[in-house]
Amino acid sequence: MTDCIFCKIANGEFGTEFIYEDEKTVVFKDINPKAPVHLLVVPKVHVENLNELEDRELMADLLCAVKKAAKKVGLNSYRLQVNTGKEAGQEVMHLHIHILGK
Ligand code: AMP
Ligand code: ZN
Repeated sequence: MTDCIFCKIANGEFGTEFIYEDEKTVVFKDINPKAPVHLLVVPKVHVENLNELEDRELMADLLCAVKKAAKKVGLNSYRLQVNTGKEAGQEVMHLHIHILGK
């Protein structure tokens, strides 16, 4: 999607450092961290949120990316957050999984 910030980041348009990247996903640091370690796991394809995600393989890929990124930054213990819909606090309308750790 042309006007989507996470599509642009995933396309490398801003030169964002990727903590982890594979064919389907990128992981980068949240610009406004709410925990000592705060990463975002983002599919390269534009999907608005979890409700719109029908690709089961991509669901699995996203969780694999969570594990790999966490391992890469040395996080054994962390929590995940997936804000789905405006009322739940979703501000960026491109699916992302927050990884929050210490
Ligand atoms: P959400 O409220 O779940 O939609 O979370 C969106 C998250 O994206 C927030 O934690 C923001 O700090 C983060 N964010 C927004 N723009 C950027 C950006 N350009 N680079 C990194 N993180 C961003
Ligand atoms: Zn997008």
